[in-house]
Amino acid sequence: MNAAAADALLFEARVIAAFGRSYLVRDLAQRQWRAVRRGKRADVVTGDRVRCTTANAEAGEAAIDEILPRRSLMFRGDLGRTQELAANLDLVAVVYAVRPAFSTALIWRALLASHASSVDSLVILNKADLAGSDDAAAHLLAQLNMLGYQTVMLSAKQQADAARASLAPRLHGRTTLLVGQSGMGKSTLINLLVPDAGARTQEFSARLKVGRQTTTASRWFDLPGAEGGALIDIPGFQDFGLAHLTPMQVAAAMPDLARWLGQCRFNDCRHQDEPGCAIVAAVGRGAIDLARYTFFRELALALEGGGERKRRGARP
Ligand code: GDP
Ligand code: ZN
Repeated sequence: MNAAAADALLFEARVIAAFGRSYLVRDLAQRQWRAVRRGKRADVVTGDRVRCTTANAEAGEAAIDEILPRRSLMFRGDLGRTQELAANLDLVAVVYAVRPAFSTALIWRALLASHASSVDSLVILNKADLAGSDDAAAHLLAQLNMLGYQTVMLSAKQQADAARASLAPRLHGRTTLLVGQSGMGKSTLINLLVPDAGARTQEFSARLKVGRQTTTASRWFDLPGAEGGALIDIPGFQDFGLAHLTPMQVAAAMPDLARWLGQCRFNDCRHQDEPGCAIVAAVGRGAIDLARYTFFRELALALEGGGERKRRGARP
């Protein structure tokens, strides 16, 4: 054993930033280390709790030996691979706004993924100052609310204090992943909730040696206040592949479809064209929104045919 290995120390840490295969981890004494994954595996995500070994203690460099058991893990699955997004989450907050144009399917997809990961969700309609009372964004929020999802409408920029007051109690003490298309106001929300977010982001970039304006790193921000909690920011995305789900999981994760499950004539009903399908009958009576059913139908067919693996780019 060489001298460096003999001096190596073991410690536990939290992954607080991930950029490609470089990570920042923070130990229990709040010291930050630049870390790489032992064996060059790419299985570590922000939010992970890990066991590390110091590589060069003076330079603050370490190696991640082991990922500790995860309480939860968010995935997306597309282009033939499954990508882990973040670990140990309590909540997924999906942010959208009237402008730029939002994708309803993307929001439904993110909600399916969080349900499949057994993580609670919250849908945030931001830029309330731009919203008319009966536009598509408000209609979607009302529909999601009726389906049983937690929803909130706010204006991170124009009514910052009210926005902070309505979000703080929902986020305190929990680890929340923020997802949404770019331009919806995620950064504005983070700056509102985490007063030193700008400085933290610069620190992450400096330590990981990436450009200041990078949007390709995922980052962990502690929420201020005694109750604790954290926000995880991942790069804004235009797609949310669900190739890791089965059509049955999709139906079970859609509350408006799930309530009819078990009532179809055939136990193995695919809810496509089978006779005696309770879901298709509910669509016919107007008890399930046709757009929601069409979304299910196309997604289920893509999952059966392998098309979901090849998808690229959001469809409205
Ligand atoms: P991100 O890409 O999701 O991080 O979005 P940003 O936080 O960078 O916001 C995108 C744009 O929307 C910026 O020009 C913000 O100033 C603007 N914005 C954010 N929140 C609001 C809001 O509540 N109302 C309005 N009108 N604009 C907002
Ligand atoms: Zn059926």
